[in-house]
Amino acid sequence: MKSRVYFTRVEDGEDISFHVQKIIQLLDVAGCESVIRKNDMVAVKTSFGEKGNIGHLKPPIVRAVVDKVKECSGKPFLVETNTLYAGRRTNAVDHIIHAHEHGFNYENIGAPVIIGDGLFGEHDVQVEINQSLCKYAYVAGVARAANVIISLAHVTGHVMAGMGATLKNIGMGLSSRGGKLAQHSGVIPRILKKQCNTCGVCDTWCPAGAIKMGGYYANIDPGRCIGCGECLAVCQFGAVEIAWDENTVNLQKKVAEYCLAILEGKNGKAIFFNFLTHITKHCDCMDNPYEPDIPDIGIMASTDPVAIDKATVDIIKEHTGTDFFQDAWPGIDYTIQFHYAQEIGLGSTDYELIPIRRSLNGKSININR
Ligand code: SF4
Ligand code: SF4
Repeated sequence: MKSRVYFTRVEDGEDISFHVQKIIQLLDVAGCESVIRKNDMVAVKTSFGEKGNIGHLKPPIVRAVVDKVKECSGKPFLVETNTLYAGRRTNAVDHIIHAHEHGFNYENIGAPVIIGDGLFGEHDVQVEINQSLCKYAYVAGVARAANVIISLAHVTGHVMAGMGATLKNIGMGLSSRGGKLAQHSGVIPRILKKQCNTCGVCDTWCPAGAIKMGGYYANIDPGRCIGCGECLAVCQFGAVEIAWDENTVNLQKKVAEYCLAILEGKNGKAIFFNFLTHITKHCDCMDNPYEPDIPDIGIMASTDPVAIDKATVDIIKEHTGTDFFQDAWPGIDYTIQFHYAQEIGLGSTDYELIPIRRSLNGKSININR
């Protein structure tokens, strides 16, 4: 049987109050009431965005999910994990203060923020998965302990995976620092000497202190590099190169394998949302106020993490007439993540898209697009 993916259209520039109504509607049709039992601890996973980023989901949308969870007698909390790179989200204290500054506080959201992998990313659970790339996965302890996961993924392009949505929000977003390191391991960029003008931007940005300026070009110390790909994103001169074919393939596959670990035991206890709004080439980890690259499209919900990501890229192609993520990151085959996820039994790329809108009497009905 095909997996169901529910879809509601969002008009470009539409007021956020309509998004709030739509997410409540999608929670209803996705079966929120049957997924959440009384007193279930419900982890609502979203990103608070890097400082300066404006694309991340806005607090009123998250508030709507939290209120719905409470209506279903669950105990909601927001969960995030520490980042691999240095910044405002690299330890739990700064991360929670940062979340507060972006509006994700108890007053606005009605639920606490918990950093799922502890103070410095050290609190994880080792899960034996015996997959082809990872024998074990290092998962945020809180994510494993939660009874239910509701994933709110903002769809964007991504420097290492080409695109990121539900699979990345779960697989990377709910792993500990050790898990993130394991997923990035093997990614070592190289400097194209002729193109490097020693501007030093990559050196300033590198979270691992792995870049040093030589006389005529930057040098990367492979022993210190953590494979985050940030130097590629910040170099304005095309002087950083990554062997996409080797590196991105493994990273995408490891993200899928980590999803498997995180969602183990959550069959029927997880709902996934993709927000196809404010879509940009770069992800929300970049500290730039990027304007959207394509018009807003809509919001999707499913209980299948593979189907929703496949449906997302299909509908973006349909609405834009282009392969936006392929054009944004030409060296990356971003489809590996969901094809491999299907191969390891995480879900199906075969889906039925069910468009939704609210009828006048407040009940959800299906319509044609
Ligand atoms: S940002 Fe690019 S051009 Fe500048 S030093 Fe680094 S590699 Fe060289
Ligand atoms: S990928 Fe680039 S920015 Fe990241 S740690 Fe390695 S050298 Fe530094």
